[in-house]
Amino acid sequence: MRTSHYYMIMPDGTVKQINPFSGTEVWAVAGRKSRPITNEAATQEKPLDIHTPEDYCSFCPPRYYETPPEKSRLVRHADRWEKIDTLAPDRYHETVAEFRRVGNMFEIVTLDYWRKNYAYKMVPQRLRWKEEYLANPAGLKHITDLIHFKLKQEGKTPEQIEKMPMAEKFAMADAFFGGGHEMIIACRHYIHGATKSGELFSSGEMSLEEHFRYFHLTVDAMRDITQTNRYVRYISVFQNWLRPAGASFDHLHKQIVALDEWGQSLENQTHMLREDPNVYNEYGANFAAHHNLIFAENDYAVAWAGIGHRSPTIEIYSRSMAGRPYEHSDEEIRGVSDLVHSVHAAMGSGISCNEEWYYTPVDAVYKLPWHVLIKWRINVPAGFEGGTSIYINPMTPIDLRDRLVPRLYKLRDERKIANIRVAEECRVEPNPLKYYLK
Ligand SMILES: [Zn+2]
Repeated sequence: MRTSHYYMIMPDGTVKQINPFSGTEVWAVAGRKSRPITNEAATQEKPLDIHTPEDYCSFCPPRYYETPPEKSRLVRHADRWEKIDTLAPDRYHETVAEFRRVGNMFEIVTLDYWRKNYAYKMVPQRLRWKEEYLANPAGLKHITDLIHFKLKQEGKTPEQIEKMPMAEKFAMADAFFGGGHEMIIACRHYIHGATKSGELFSSGEMSLEEHFRYFHLTVDAMRDITQTNRYVRYISVFQNWLRPAGASFDHLHKQIVALDEWGQSLENQTHMLREDPNVYNEYGANFAAHHNLIFAENDYAVAWAGIGHRSPTIEIYSRSMAGRPYEHSDEEIRGVSDLVHSVHAAMGSGISCNEEWYYTPVDAVYKLPWHVLIKWRINVPAGFEGGTSIYINPMTPIDLRDRLVPRLYKLRDERKIANIRVAEECRVEPNPLKYYLK
């Protein structure tokens, strides 16, 4: 392995890194790491005016009608979980949704993009759902309210909205039923018993089972999108946690965006895969193992502190032979979910972060492993970075590892995370990722 130039610790402690997959050059400069991690939530914490039920934003349960119609919801019963698809609009408040899958009101890639560029047509079951929804008085009111809100947001005057033909308004509603930009929204806004504004319900605050269901519903949505839009080549899955990471609400949700290309980064990685099918072990897992950056694992996934990222980044890789999340078994999804949950729990809900999923694109013939990156948004790039294309990361990969490990032991002792292997308990056998096998 010729990896020395990817990760070099200088005599003064500066860690120079190049990300093997993106080529990004990053330095972690000794001495800067002692700066405290900015934590906006903690510094701006206010006493909370408690509402029961929670009613703090458009994603909170009493406000189900402020998001587009529900494609699916998960309901928790005493002994099982139930998935309800396309619930009738007058029945939203009959059950409590632990998680909801809904369209995004303001799509990044719009339904019109697919229509105008690919002549995309909504599949018959979606068209039928829309008809039934609008035939229901509660549904008609819901859709009319949403369209009026959206038009107002777009700067239309009340007169313009009034004059717009109904047919045109209902055509706008197609995106709610057949669009490819969706959200998976968690039930809670704050944790149970919260008294301060910083006590938000994050991924790490969930139980193991909740986090697995959250992952599973997201994976189900991905599969469904590939089955309802045949032009989709990749589905971007991400979670922006808190405003510095780009979240518009402090209410936990994932976003799912269907795309007609893979993006440059995955194109490049596919070239690497063609040259060397084992590249994710060599430059990922084995590399991390050789530098003692692996800090947690279970039988289904491995986690390490990543190198060559602009901000502190944890990488969690599935060990599965399958390359796409929706080709994983439930046990495999649970394994990845458990490790991602552990990392969120160990970092705490106060650190702003992006969770990003990567995996084998829909139309790829070269398999790459499903992996999840958790990027802490705690540093703002400065002029130095713009001028040199060398990025300063406030933490070294070792600092990041050492910050998480004691927390993982503690949380495991308290049974708040899964029974994973931590630090030196990890077996780190060579080539732990099995995606390259047929
Ligand atoms: Zn909320």
